[in-house]
Formats: sequence, C-alpha cells, structure tokens
Amino acid sequence: ASYYNEHTVLWLNGEFVKASEAKMDLYSQSLHYGYSVFEGIRSYKNIHGETKIFKAKEHYERLAESSRLMNMPYTWTVDELIAANYEVLKRNNMQDAYIRPVVFAPANMSFAKNTESFIAIQVWEMQPFLGEKLLRIKTSSYQRPNPKGFNIQAKAGGHYVNSILASQEAKAAGYDEALLTDMNGFIAEGPGANIFFEKEGTLFTPALGNILPGITRATVLELCNELDIPVEEGQYSLEQLKEADTAFFCGTAAEVIGWESIDETKFPGNWNDSISKKIQTAYKDRVTESSQKSKVKSKNSLASA
Ligand code: PMP
Repeated sequence: ASYYNEHTVLWLNGEFVKASEAKMDLYSQSLHYGYSVFEGIRSYKNIHGETKIFKAKEHYERLAESSRLMNMPYTWTVDELIAANYEVLKRNNMQDAYIRPVVFAPANMSFAKNTESFIAIQVWEMQPFLGEKLLRIKTSSYQRPNPKGFNIQAKAGGHYVNSILASQEAKAAGYDEALLTDMNGFIAEGPGANIFFEKEGTLFTPALGNILPGITRATVLELCNELDIPVEEGQYSLEQLKEADTAFFCGTAAEVIGWESIDETKFPGNWNDSISKKIQTAYKDRVTESSQKSKVKSKNSLASA
C-alpha cells in the first residue's frame, strides 16, 4: 500500500506542501543515526460525523517530551501543531486516518548542540495493522533496549530498529507479532503496543519504567477506573503471563486486540466473555465518542500518564 499519492498534502515546517514535492536533506543525522522522534496518532469520524483526533494533546505533549529527552529543540506549541494537524486532515479530505508527526535533525554532524529541528505532519489512510482476529504471539529473542542505554520513554526513531527486528523474527516464524521482555526478563511490550493480561477478574500490565508510556495504555487504565475493573501495574514474568486467562495488546494503531496464544500456550479464557473484551468495546466507543464518558468516580487519576 502506498502512503501517499500525487494529491497528498503534508505540513512541513509551517507550510502545507505536496508530499511528492516535499524535500528532506540526505545528510540529516536523523536518516544516518535514527536521531528523530515521532508520534503515531489516530483520527476518527465520531458519531456526529465530525473528525476528531484522539488524545491530540497527549500525543503532542509526548512528542515534546520525546524531543526534550533527545535534546532536540521543539519550538512549536501543542495548540499550533493540533491546528496544523486538523488542517492537514482537511486538505487530504480524511476523517479516519493515521497521523505521523516526525521531528528530525538537520545536517549538523557536530552533536555538540542541536540548534534546530524540523517537523513534518503526514496523514494516511489507516492501513490494517494487527487486524481483528485473535493474535498468535511469539516471545522474542530480542529484548527491549536497555533504559541505561536509551531514553526509552522517548518515541525515538532509532528505538524502532529493535521493534522491526522483533516483528520480523516473529512473522518469519509464522506468528502474528512479537512480545519483548525487558533487560531483566520481565514482560515489557510489543514492537508497537503495550500489553495487558487478565487473571481471575483482574487486569495486569507492566509498570512504567522500561516501556513506552502508551497513551492507549493510559486510556485502558482510565476505562478500568470508570468500569470498576481491578487493575494492577507491576513486574511480571513470562510464566505469569502464560497462566493468564486472556491477554491483549493496546496501542494507537492496534487499538485493543486480543491474543489467542503466546508461544505454545493457548489462553483458556473465552474472549467474548472476558473483561479484556469489555475493554476492547469500551475503547472503540471512547474513540468514536459513541458512549458518554461515564462519571469519573475517583479524583485520583491513576490513568493520566
Ligand atoms: N509501545 C511501543 C513500543 C509503541 O511503539 C507503541 C505505539 N506508539 C506503544 C507501546 C503504544 O503507545 P500508544 O498507545 O501511545 O500508541
């Protein structure tokens, strides 16, 4: 599938330009070293027919935080970028889209100080990511990057070499996707999604620290709070995961997608009766604004990451 055609427009450093005419410097550090930060965002047509970027503020704030962690100047305001983003959607006549902002570096190889960054906001039709059916997952031979070697909370381009290797390995072995552990062997996340598992009516998810602080993960925690679903964050082993009733990935592109199995272990829970499935449904409703946000009972917002 192609991400753009001759009509596609993107936003580049404050201007709307045709994708086919947009230029980037081949000497950029971002290309050579993966020194870039980016976001993956979704817009949805809501039940009133309006285009809504889901959690736009959270995504552009994370982009700013990623830039800060990578010492890349971030000279834009969140509001300015959200406005530009809506305009890119409009100019491309898109409602249900995948949105990709990228901050990248110029051709300054000194590393001493990055005085300048560039930004592009691209949108494309949502491509199938992990699909709809329950996934067969393989534990990866690759671990997530060691947080002592990378600022792992940053959504940085170079970190995704790890994701690509893990995903390719799983797919080459006939699985749908990989699960990676952290440097201590605890379950961490997928190449492009966070993970939850369900055991006896409680959901469990790896604590923040060695994973990307997912915005969908935060949304799932919010939904658990609203729906009175018990949820715990901690460090969990593969053995604990393999004893779960159900499990799922969650991410902007993946949304909430259940697992059939991990390695040779099939999850015994009935997906359609599971609390995981409840979360999946509630998430779909939330992104399309088809259900009224239920009254927030608790002031302690454990979910706002
Ligand atoms: N972990 C990784 C490694 C990811 O790439 C993503 C996708 N951005 C996620 C988790 C999920 O994050 P989010 O819910 O913010 O999309």
